[in-house]
Amino acid sequence: MAISTAINTHCPSCDAARSSLIVCDDCRSLFPVPPTATYFDLFAIPTSFGLDDAALLAAYRSLTRRIHPDRFGGAGDDVGDLATRLSAQINEAYSVLSEPVRRADYMLTLAGGPSAAEVRDVPGNLLEEVMTLREEIDQARDDGDTEAIERHRDAITERKQLALEQLANHADRLDTCDDDERAGFRKRLNSIKYFDNLLTRLTTDPLAEADHR
Ligand SMILES: [Zn+2]
Repeated sequence: MAISTAINTHCPSCDAARSSLIVCDDCRSLFPVPPTATYFDLFAIPTSFGLDDAALLAAYRSLTRRIHPDRFGGAGDDVGDLATRLSAQINEAYSVLSEPVRRADYMLTLAGGPSAAEVRDVPGNLLEEVMTLREEIDQARDDGDTEAIERHRDAITERKQLALEQLANHADRLDTCDDDERAGFRKRLNSIKYFDNLLTRLTTDPLAEADHR
């Protein structure tokens, strides 16, 4: 994916070189997020799945501080409103980019999809496997078989990790993938939800669950 060069522009208010799309540190002007800007652009980091977590966090903290609505309280309602809106957008962008599954989903969206609504299935015969696993897990819980529960947890955690690695390996190439490959990427993303549900099933206390019925 092309790295945006949009931030290499000057502030329309004071003509200083800008290090951010949304704020000028010289004159403290704020700017709405440009419609074409991605979350990566907002933080001025390269568009890549394997982003540097520390760099992302540093960029997020820096930007949050520079556009904090409290700093623009006396600047008039419009500017205060813009600061509030920008803060919400920065928070959303950070929460998406800092979480690998949401980041992969976002990168697929940037590449043109498909969305989770458009492709709902999962790779191979995972659905049948999941049904079998559910039965085995419920049986293990009924039996109080902690060893079997541990074994399932390890195996499912490993499969989720593998799916994540495959997403990581393909995310940066999504814009050159054909429709079938991008559909495959969505299916793998869908599979993560099934693994998460199974892991939740493994950690939920059946007695506590029964109490809530
Ligand atoms: Zn400026």
